[in-house]
Amino acid sequence: TEGLLQKSEKLALVGQMAAGIAHEIRNPLTSIKGFLQLFKAKYTDDQEHFELVLSELDRINLIISEFLVLAKPTAMEFKDREIKHLIKDVVTLVNTQAILNNVQIFVEFEADIPTIVCEENHLKQVFINILKNAIEAMPNGGNIDVKVNKLEIDKVSIKFIDHGIGIPADRIPTLGEPFYTTKEKGTGLGLMTSFKIIENHDGELKISSKLNEGTTVEVILPTVPETHLVNA
Ligand code: ADP
Ligand code: MG
Repeated sequence: TEGLLQKSEKLALVGQMAAGIAHEIRNPLTSIKGFLQLFKAKYTDDQEHFELVLSELDRINLIISEFLVLAKPTAMEFKDREIKHLIKDVVTLVNTQAILNNVQIFVEFEADIPTIVCEENHLKQVFINILKNAIEAMPNGGNIDVKVNKLEIDKVSIKFIDHGIGIPADRIPTLGEPFYTTKEKGTGLGLMTSFKIIENHDGELKISSKLNEGTTVEVILPTVPETHLVNA
């Protein structure tokens, strides 16, 4: 009968099914792309059409990858990690795109930031999504500041501050809705996955912005309590 499953359970089920389907689509896509590249090399005329189809395939792949980050049915592993290392890895990863766009990323750490417990790859994906959005918001280049600070008890704040095009005030409450994008090649899935991943970490993701001035995305995460101090 109806009502046996809670709404949240139904949603979780739909998510798992979608993830399963996305996963299954990826393999045939990869083989289609391989054959297409082969044909492209073989038939030297009409190269533009091959290129077009290949770039459409890449787009399907991108949407599926962004979607799968979250919905991957494999087990999540939460481990103790230093934010410093995560941020360093992520900045290295996006730096090529930053340099190409004349963007410089500056990172500032307060001393003695405690360890966090996280699903490392998911959290890195969040930081990558936020930094990419920041870079894409500055078509004429500029600086991005990343600031990591301790908050009240057992919390850490990571702020990503850009000086880009900003977001209209009436749009801010709707950020995180799937497929909302203002970019020609956007998927509108980055923020949705980011919100979900931060929620899985019992954290908060806050966005404030001023049109034509810039955007600040703040991620607040719980840190590992310093129990040894309590016992001392
Ligand atoms: P995508 O980047 O594929 O468009 P996202 O979910 O990452 O999808 O972002 C959704 C939309 O939110 C973007 O298209 C953009 O309009 C807006 N946005 C997100 N971050 C920023 C930012 N730092 N500056 C300006 N706009 C932003
Ligand atoms: Mg994005």
